[in-house]
Amino acid sequence: MRVYNFSAGPSMLPESVLQKAAADMLDYEGSGMSVLEMSHRAKCYDAIIKEAEALIRELMNIPDNYKVLFLQGGASTQFASVALNLHKNGKADYIVSGNFSNLCFKEGKRLTNARAIASSEDATYTYVPKVTKDMVDPEADFLHICFNNTIFGTKYNYIPETPENVPLVADMSSMILSEPVDVSKFGVIYAGAQKNIGPAGVTVVIVRDDLLENFTENCPTMLKWKTQADKDSLYNTPPCYSIYVSMLVFRWIKEMGGVEAIYKTNVKKANMLYDYIDSSDFYKNSVQKEDRSLMNVPFVTPSEELDAKFVKEASAEGLVSLKGHRLVGGMRASIYNAMPVEGIEKLIAFMKKFEAENK
Ligand SMILES: *Cc1c(COP(=O)(O)O)cnc(C)c1O
Repeated sequence: MRVYNFSAGPSMLPESVLQKAAADMLDYEGSGMSVLEMSHRAKCYDAIIKEAEALIRELMNIPDNYKVLFLQGGASTQFASVALNLHKNGKADYIVSGNFSNLCFKEGKRLTNARAIASSEDATYTYVPKVTKDMVDPEADFLHICFNNTIFGTKYNYIPETPENVPLVADMSSMILSEPVDVSKFGVIYAGAQKNIGPAGVTVVIVRDDLLENFTENCPTMLKWKTQADKDSLYNTPPCYSIYVSMLVFRWIKEMGGVEAIYKTNVKKANMLYDYIDSSDFYKNSVQKEDRSLMNVPFVTPSEELDAKFVKEASAEGLVSLKGHRLVGGMRASIYNAMPVEGIEKLIAFMKKFEAENK
C-alpha cells in the first residue's frame, strides 16, 4: 500500500512518474538498457538531458540569457558556489530567514566579506524580514535569500529589490515550480531536486549569462558554474538518472497544466490545512500569517507528549514523516507539488479524529 508521505525531502513523486520509470527500467525506448546503465555521452541520453532543460525553461519561462545547469552536490554545495562564482568587490549581503539561509551566510563568511543585513532569528524565524533597497550595499557582489524556509514554514511574499548591479540570488529548493516566479528578477536561482523537482542527486542552477564571468581566480573547476555552462552540464558525468526522473516530473507538471495550474492546487491544499488549524484551538501554527509557506506547514498540539502520539498514530494510518524538524519540534506537513488533495483531506480527517480523542 502506498502511503501519503509528508517528508520535507526527499519527498513524494507523482505515481505516474514512478510507473513510467519502472516501465522503462530494463529497456529504455528500445535501447536494450536502463537509463541507469547509459553513457552520458550516448545519443539517447542526450535527448533526455536536452528535454529536461527545454521543459524547465518552458515551465518557468526562463529567458534566453540564462543558463540552466544540472549539477551535483546538493543545494548545500551552492552555499559556497554562490560566493565563489559571484566575486567582484569581495563583499556580499545575506538575509537570514531560517536554518538554510544561515548556513549559506556562514559559508559566505569563509569566502567573502559577508554581512547579514536582516534576520528573523529574534522570533525563531516565524516571519520573513522585510528588506528595502537602501539596506543593500550597492557594492555587494550579490544579495542572497532563501525563498521558502523549509524548516520554519515561511516564505517570501515579496521579491527584495536590490541596487543596480547587485544580483539577487535565491535558494528555491523547497518551492521551485510550485508557483510562478519572474526569473528575470533574479541573477541566480538554485534548488536541490529532492523536494519539488525529482530524486535526490541533482541540483538545478539557473544563472544569468553575464554573471558566469565573476568567479574567483581560485574557484575549483567543479564548483565553477562556467565549467558546466560551457559544456551544457556534461563536463563530467552528471547525475544521469536523477535528471531523467526530473525530466519525467517536468512532463507531469506540463500535463497538469503547468506551474500556474499547479500553483492553484497548491494554494487550495495549503488553505485547507491552514484554515483547519486556525479554526481549531487544539492545533497551532506560529508563523506570521502573511509569510506562511505553501509547501511546509509546521504545527503543534498542546503538548510534546501529544505531538509524539500524533506522529505515531498518523503513521499507523498511512500518513508518514510528519515529525517536525528537531529545531522546531511538533509536526510538519510538507505538501509539495506531488502531494494530492486527497492526502490533505486524509490528514485533516485524522487531525479531527485525534483532536476529538485527545482534547
Ligand atoms: C533541503 C534544503 C537545502 C539542503 O539541500 P541539500 O540538497 O540536502 O544540500 C537547502 N536549502 C533549502 C531551502 C532546503 O529546503
